[in-house]
Amino acid sequence: MQAFVKTDRAPAGQLLSVPEPRAKDDEVRVAVKASSICGTDLHIWEWNEWARSRVKRIPMIFGHELSGEVVDVGSRVRSLRVGDHVSAETHIVDGTCYPCRTGRMHICEHVEVLGVDRDGVFAEYVVLPEMNAWKNDPGLDPALASMQEPLGNAVHSLLPEDNIEDLAGKNVLVTGCGPIGLLAIAVAKLLGARQVFASEVNPLRIGLARKMGADLVLNPAEPEARPARTILDATDGNGVDVAVEMSGNPGGLKLAFEALAPGGRVSLLGIFDGEIPLNVDDAIIFKAARVHGIYGRRMFETWFQVKGLLGQAAFREKMAQIITHRLPMREIPRAMDLMRSGEAAKVSLEARW
Ligand code: NAD
Ligand code: ZN
Repeated sequence: MQAFVKTDRAPAGQLLSVPEPRAKDDEVRVAVKASSICGTDLHIWEWNEWARSRVKRIPMIFGHELSGEVVDVGSRVRSLRVGDHVSAETHIVDGTCYPCRTGRMHICEHVEVLGVDRDGVFAEYVVLPEMNAWKNDPGLDPALASMQEPLGNAVHSLLPEDNIEDLAGKNVLVTGCGPIGLLAIAVAKLLGARQVFASEVNPLRIGLARKMGADLVLNPAEPEARPARTILDATDGNGVDVAVEMSGNPGGLKLAFEALAPGGRVSLLGIFDGEIPLNVDDAIIFKAARVHGIYGRRMFETWFQVKGLLGQAAFREKMAQIITHRLPMREIPRAMDLMRSGEAAKVSLEARW
């Protein structure tokens, strides 16, 4: 089969012909219909510092956002059949460690990530454990189906726990409008948020944030910009009830806490480049801020929430607007250039080789 393989501990990857994988007893083999590119894939492609320390297994097929069709089921698989349409939960867990046994599988201590620790989806076929194959509505556009993973990140950030207060009537801030931030804006609006504020520095993404329904998009890089002040003024001096940090930039983090109402909650999804300064007294303690670290998606509560959102035509139409490019798989090198340059929001890959 054709696959994009990270062959060396160096930038880029190669389109190669490799043997087809076979499903073990508890696995399914999936024919890839569509994928999409995530920041992690770009890091692996560019072989940045994170990738150098994180990726152990070379050669490896990378890519993890998936939509495909089951073509083979292992002898112990019960919940899936040949022909089922599936996406992948990319956290492959052991089921036996402390977090797994206490209902928090998504933070498994021995997690293996698809396309990072084991062969991923930039290929004609991929094998997945039965548990990681999420069954889709067969009518769902494969491009949207493959974006359920980042959509799940957005949903998990906005609703990190079962008994958390909902967003109806609340003021929400999204810092950083990459694909996940953009999706978070659309979800917050759909869940009834009163005002959704967003911050972003890239002009294309500022435009998309407005299309997703943000009430006010602030560009902290503009001279004279005082985003925290602007948000406080627009909320009767109270600040936002919920902030989701999705930029991975220290400025985004600072704004999330400065604009937060006392007793509000912040979800931290963006990954920072090493240690960053934060005035913990003012940001968290004196504000009694509730801080949630966000890793992946809850398995599988978040996936059920995502299914509910994708059941709504209006939401699917909005989501499709963040796809700025649709390319065949063989153009992955060009897709990586588009991602790096900031000219793209989401690049969708079709299984044409
Ligand atoms: P992305 O890099 O495309 O988006 C980040 C956005 O933040 C960009 O559009 C960028 O222009 C913007 N930005 C940069 N500086 C800013 C500033 N000072 N203020 C406002 N915006 C600013 O990434 P993404 O794919 O949307 O993911 C968002 C973040 O979440 C990334 O940091 C990513 O590494 C991280 N991530 C975390 C998890 C997890 O499980 N915790 C999963 C996926 C992604
Ligand atoms: Zn575990």
